Amino acid sequence: MLGLMQDWPLTVDKFLTHAAQWHGRREVVSRSVEGPIVRTTYAELEQRAKRISNALLAMGVKPGDRVATLAWNSGRHMEAWYAIMGIGAVCHTLNPRLFADQLCYIINHAEDRIIFTDLTFLPVLMEHRHQMPTVETFIVLTDQDHMAKVDLKGALCFETLVETHSPDAKWGGFDENTAAGLCYTSGTTGNPKGVLYSHRSNFLHTLVTAQTDVMGIGSRDVVLPVVPMFHANAWGLTFTCPAIGAKMVMPGPKMDGESILELIETEGVTFSAAVPTVWQMLLQHMRATGAKFSTLKRVVIGGSAVPEAIIRAFHDDYGVEVIHAWGMTETSPLGTQASLTAELAELPYDEQIPYRLKQGRPPAGVQLKLTDDEDKRLPHDGTTFGRLKIKGPFIVGRYFKGDGGEILDEEGFFDTGDVATIDQHGFMQITDRAKDVIKSGGEWISSIEIENIACGHPKAALAAVIGVAHPKWDERPLLLVQLKPGETATRDEFLEFLVGKIAKWWMPDDVQFVSEIPLGATGKIDKKLIRQRMAGYVLPTAEPVG
Ligand code: AMP
Repeated sequence: MLGLMQDWPLTVDKFLTHAAQWHGRREVVSRSVEGPIVRTTYAELEQRAKRISNALLAMGVKPGDRVATLAWNSGRHMEAWYAIMGIGAVCHTLNPRLFADQLCYIINHAEDRIIFTDLTFLPVLMEHRHQMPTVETFIVLTDQDHMAKVDLKGALCFETLVETHSPDAKWGGFDENTAAGLCYTSGTTGNPKGVLYSHRSNFLHTLVTAQTDVMGIGSRDVVLPVVPMFHANAWGLTFTCPAIGAKMVMPGPKMDGESILELIETEGVTFSAAVPTVWQMLLQHMRATGAKFSTLKRVVIGGSAVPEAIIRAFHDDYGVEVIHAWGMTETSPLGTQASLTAELAELPYDEQIPYRLKQGRPPAGVQLKLTDDEDKRLPHDGTTFGRLKIKGPFIVGRYFKGDGGEILDEEGFFDTGDVATIDQHGFMQITDRAKDVIKSGGEWISSIEIENIACGHPKAALAAVIGVAHPKWDERPLLLVQLKPGETATRDEFLEFLVGKIAKWWMPDDVQFVSEIPLGATGKIDKKLIRQRMAGYVLPTAEPVG
């Protein structure tokens, strides 16, 4: 027997329509690419987005067409998103940190017809225009004054389109399983693959992220999404904030410590989200200037593992709670977050730290399991490492155009490519990407755990650990350290720092100081590049076995 409730398709345009009607005066504040701070409200943002929908319809955009954005976080970028998704077209977020040929690859693979772009990216688009045959039009997210200097052939001005089109547009009215967004994985192995979100998957993800134990934000919060809209939908915040009526503060192109702190203080930010490297820069700036936060209460950190030093600095020095979260483009992206259970919250702070450092527990709507290579389930005992698999209504089922073939196991779980443990409290901990795990004497060493501890050394700016071939043990860990500017250090200083904090047999066989630890397009340590750079390196312990 079927239920008898209303059929109300879960489409994301409803979030902005709700915000416009019920939180209409709540602001969206942006640091614009042109420089000044720009203020708008949800009511205005919805009207402007509808005008852009009409502009797209006038250009012949049809449901299912891919329309891309190449832009920083801003109110205009949000207007473009809702304009595209509201009419059933697919918003393809392009990551400007990709190399130009990868960018061209995904534009062509997606068959993007239109690209919304910030002024920042005109040079790269002009240089590679001829490699994007499917693209008919560029819409520059700027005003008429700045447009005068744009010399990209056929480019249109966003503000002119806003002025010349009517705000009367019909949004939604289609199946909730209609595609809404397209985001390509970073493609560390092979070509990037497209994750095609549906309205329904984004809608459900939004309801989940709005829970207290996930983002824990409400209408009185002021939210600064530093995590870019092109990195897994700013972790959903561009949907969650209008859904709950939170004020938004968008950082535009400036994500350095000083600029972020300025926005936090002038706009009264209470909540923010970003990858660890952003927070490291901010904390360095805070220490150097002696600044304090007046309003900031909580930050969600994910994308790569959060070092203890960051959690402690936020808590001990600034009274800010860090929530560690894990997810991936394929999971919309939030999969787990390390919100403490009632039992763990009773512990003294120092005893909570090991749990706060883990990636955490799944919310309702996400199922997790650990398996071995034969797909046999492994115990949740906190020590057994296994492949982390995930299932739920906002987890990828297939990649766009079928790339990669069948990606779910027999029970319908997606293999994340991460290796993890799950403890008795249900806290999952990522120990490595499957391809980065260090296999030493038949056992696995977690590169991430050593990195996090090494990062806590007062002289370290960044640390990375890779496995290097060893004649006796197969692989042994090598620690690479990028020192803070002006620092010098010795190998032994770092090895001594690790003593007692990791198992003896996990101790790196060597430490190398490097001028730069390379980061990839989503702010993660680029181990592939590090391995390439260290190709000729031989461990001092790698005596040939005779
Ligand atoms: P992306 O799709 O670019 O967001 O990358 C997803 C991958 O980033 C995951 O599969 C993990 O390997 C890694 N990742 C994300 N969040 C965390 C975290 N909190 N700790 C460790 N690794 C993480």
